[in-house]
Amino acid sequence: MLVSVGRGIDEEDNLDIIFDLADALDATVSSSRPIVDNGWLPQDRQVGQSGKKVTPEVYIAVGISGAVQHVAGMKGAENIIAINNDPSAPIYDIADYGIVDDLFEVVPALTEQFE
Ligand SMILES: Cc1cc2nc3c(=O)[nH]c(=O)nc-3n(C[C@H](O)[C@H](O)[C@H](O)COP(=O)(O)OP(=O)(O)OC[C@H]3O[C@@H](n4cnc5c(N)ncnc54)[C@H](O)[C@@H]3O)c2cc1C
Repeated sequence: MLVSVGRGIDEEDNLDIIFDLADALDATVSSSRPIVDNGWLPQDRQVGQSGKKVTPEVYIAVGISGAVQHVAGMKGAENIIAINNDPSAPIYDIADYGIVDDLFEVVPALTEQFE
C-alpha cells in the first residue's frame, strides 16, 4: 500500500501527517514530482513518468492533481483513493474512491480511525 503526497501538502513540516497515516496503515510513503524537486523526499519516492511505475493494491493520492506524467506511474494500482479539495481535479477521473475535502482535516481523521 502506498500513501502518496503531492503539492497540496504545502510545507515540508506538514509531511508528518502523511507519515502518521502511512504508519497507521503499515504503508510506504511516495510522492509526486514537486515534493522531490523541493528536496522534501528522495528521488526514489517519486511516482510517474520520470519516477517509478507502481502497482500497489491500494494507492492513496493526497493533494495530488493527477497530471498525466504522474498518472503514467500509478494507473496500474488496483484501488486508487484520492483526497483532494478540488472536485474537478483530474485524479478523480481515475480514482475508485475519493474524498473531496481539505487534506488537513481528512488525513488526521483517517489516521485516528485506523489507529
Ligand atoms: C517531462 C516531465 C516529466 C514529469 N514527470 C513526473 C513524474 O514522474 N511524476 C510526477 O508526479 N510529475 C511529473 N511531472 C510533473 C507533472 O506535470 C505535474 O506538474 C505534477 O505531477 C504535479 O504534482 P502535484 O499533483 O503534486 O501538484 P499540483 O498539480 O499542484 O496539484 C496539487 C493538488 O493538491 C490539491 N490541494 C491543494 N490544497 C489542498 C488541500 N488543503 N486539501 C486537499 N487537496 C489540496 C489541489 O487541488 C491540486 O489538485 C513531469 C513533468 C514533465 C514536463
